[in-house]
Amino acid sequence: NKQVVLKDYVPGFPKESDLEVRTITIRLKIPEGSKAVLVKNLYLSCDPYLSMRMQKPEPDRPSFVEPYKLGSPIIGFGVAKVLDSGHPNFKKGDLVWGTTEWEEYSLITSPEDLFKIEHTDVPLSYYTGILGMPGLTAYVGFHHICSPRKGDRVFVSAASGAVGQLVGQFAKLMDCYVVGSAGSKEKVDLLLTKFGFDEAFNYKEEQDLNMALKRYFPEGIDIYFENVGGKMLDSVLLNMRIHGQISVCGMISQYALEQPEGVHNLLCILVKRIHMEGFIVLDHFDQYPKFLDTVLPLIREGKITYVEDIAEGLESASAALSGIFAGRNIGKQVVVVSRE
Ligand code: NDP
Repeated sequence: NKQVVLKDYVPGFPKESDLEVRTITIRLKIPEGSKAVLVKNLYLSCDPYLSMRMQKPEPDRPSFVEPYKLGSPIIGFGVAKVLDSGHPNFKKGDLVWGTTEWEEYSLITSPEDLFKIEHTDVPLSYYTGILGMPGLTAYVGFHHICSPRKGDRVFVSAASGAVGQLVGQFAKLMDCYVVGSAGSKEKVDLLLTKFGFDEAFNYKEEQDLNMALKRYFPEGIDIYFENVGGKMLDSVLLNMRIHGQISVCGMISQYALEQPEGVHNLLCILVKRIHMEGFIVLDHFDQYPKFLDTVLPLIREGKITYVEDIAEGLESASAALSGIFAGRNIGKQVVVVSRE
């Protein structure tokens, strides 16, 4: 069984050398009387929060996940095929998505948390993204936390990523004015030509983020979908409208900093009566069936599109994961373990 394991805790952002591939011998069998499910992993999801699990546990470091065990395979979301099942809800041949490990075969001991994949007329890898955890994140974060109205002026950071590309498209479907920021010309072009954003800019080329936001939002921002934190958040606060809404989905720029950057413009929250709310998608998994009923037809009718960045094989997993912290991914970063 080929596995991708964490060598040592990572002090900063993950590097390719932090994970290694090893092969161990296992029995492809469920222990007698166990309710576990044995799966063959097909697609793995590279998500920014995995970096938090790669860090050494520190009492005051804010985190909602446990650190990984050194020498153990990375745990994350993925799509898999059931090879054998001790659980009455699953049988051989079922396709599932949920928490699995970065290896060829996994024994999943809490299969209750897996979602059975019923619709296979869309690419299976979509269940790591648009039809999986990041898709639900975009849906809950935008529709429930932001409470958008037609015509709202919406800003999305890390807008070409797994979550951001969907938030922008959800906002366009609600007739909002949508602007996205991303880290390269290619990504900016994607936002404008593929995802239908009204405007987009490369934040790395802006001398002054405050001025860039004023250019696109002369009357201010109603909704900010926060994915990056740091300087971007600081500049957004200056450009929010009175009673504006900030949905704090992520702060990728801050995850691996020993000393998070200070935010200077917090006074704007008071003065402009801004509503700022963090959320973790794990608290909203009960929304998944409703989300699926909403988004599947939108994909089928071509009203929503999705871009993935596919890395082939477990050997490429470490480079793929470290790449998302350097902005190398264009769209949702997926690792293919096997296509069937
Ligand atoms: P992406 O697919 O967008 O990958 C991350 C992207 O973030 C990179 O491609 C890069 O794009 C950008 N980025 C990386 N480092 C920085 C930096 N220092 N400053 C600014 N941008 C940076 O990831 P996701 O769409 O999966 O996730 C987006 C956000 O949503 C993350 O913060 C993530 O943690 C959060 N999230 C939160 C969840 C929740 O439950 N609250 C669930 C899922 C995701 P670029 O080239 O544009 O810089």
